[in-house]
Amino acid sequence: MKARKLLMIPGPIEFEPEVMQSMATPTPGHVDPNFIESFGKALELMKSVWLCPAGQAFIIAGTGTLAMDIAGSNLIETGDNALVISTGYFGERYAELLKRYGANVDILRAPLGDVVPFDQIEAQLKKKNYKLMTFTHVDTSTAVLNDAKLFGKLGQKYEVLTILDGVCSVAGEEIRQEEWGIDVVLTASQKAIGVPPGLALLVASQKAIKAFENRKTPVGNYYCDWTNWLPVMKAYENRTPSYFGTPAVNLILALETSLKLILKEGMDKRFKRHLQAGKAFRSAIKALGLNMIPVNEKVSANTLSAPYYPERVTGGELLGGISKEGIIIAGGLLSEIKAKYFRVGHMGSVNRSDLLATVGAIESGLRVCNYSFNSGVGLKACQDILNDPA
Ligand code: PMP
Repeated sequence: MKARKLLMIPGPIEFEPEVMQSMATPTPGHVDPNFIESFGKALELMKSVWLCPAGQAFIIAGTGTLAMDIAGSNLIETGDNALVISTGYFGERYAELLKRYGANVDILRAPLGDVVPFDQIEAQLKKKNYKLMTFTHVDTSTAVLNDAKLFGKLGQKYEVLTILDGVCSVAGEEIRQEEWGIDVVLTASQKAIGVPPGLALLVASQKAIKAFENRKTPVGNYYCDWTNWLPVMKAYENRTPSYFGTPAVNLILALETSLKLILKEGMDKRFKRHLQAGKAFRSAIKALGLNMIPVNEKVSANTLSAPYYPERVTGGELLGGISKEGIIIAGGLLSEIKAKYFRVGHMGSVNRSDLLATVGAIESGLRVCNYSFNSGVGLKACQDILNDPA
């Protein structure tokens, strides 16, 4: 029997073998002609995955928080007004981050499991002039999905730069950055992009780049400063080497491989596959009689789910039981309810067998916890959706 476990947490996720092979390539120098080609290609492919052909892509060594920092530090100057729409843990992080760069931050907080009502956001935008607005597309702490298209529209209408934290959504949930008019879409490599942790990735609209160019003061973060990175990205896109900080060479080779696989599947198909995976998983959880944090289907993410433990079932016991079945899932993250729920990632390369194995393991875990349900009911619900081609 193979001693392997299936990683079903909301990032890092399971990676494709081709991506891992790229990671194992003997490391080339960052000015090696083959690497220059790969870096340039990865920047171009990002714009196709982000559906933002006119944007400027950035690939910088770091995590998703660095991608948030890059967008925040380059677009905020001391005294700028910023509006943060928070649907959980990562919205709060963005507010703290923007304050470090001197922004006057207002936060609109959603009720647990829900989004901030559109009218409330619009009323706030009417009341005050903002330089930028951030929102978390999928908050990984609550599995709540925001309507990204709507934010794009609001940003355009009120001339506010929009930053979409897509760490748990890019290449999983539908995003059409250019068509929807979103200024920065940022993510990290370890989630639906399908590359081991270590890359901060973002695409900025030309409007965002202009806003950066029109700054009156220097960027308050040396490593993040686009003054340092823009020439590097442009050089590699033009297939010439350039240097500011050593690129994460193997991760970039792996990124090129993964982006090619993503585009081979096709963005529309990929969005649909995630939608179906999300639906199938939620359907299984509901059939098992468990409640979830998102208050309805419309605000439920398709890249991960966040079910509450049933009464008298503890996290330690359930997660332990699931792990014995070979599946790794995550506990809660939002401090107020951390011990009351768990999280399951279903993004990127996740397939039908992974989903069914996970639901099966959850059923086994629940049985160990003496939770009463009809055996197989979750599996059937999951399969019914997966078998439905619609
Ligand atoms: N935003 C969201 C929505 C996330 O899910 C995460 C990571 N879970 C981050 C930001 C931060 O990313 P990282 O952990 O890579 O810094």
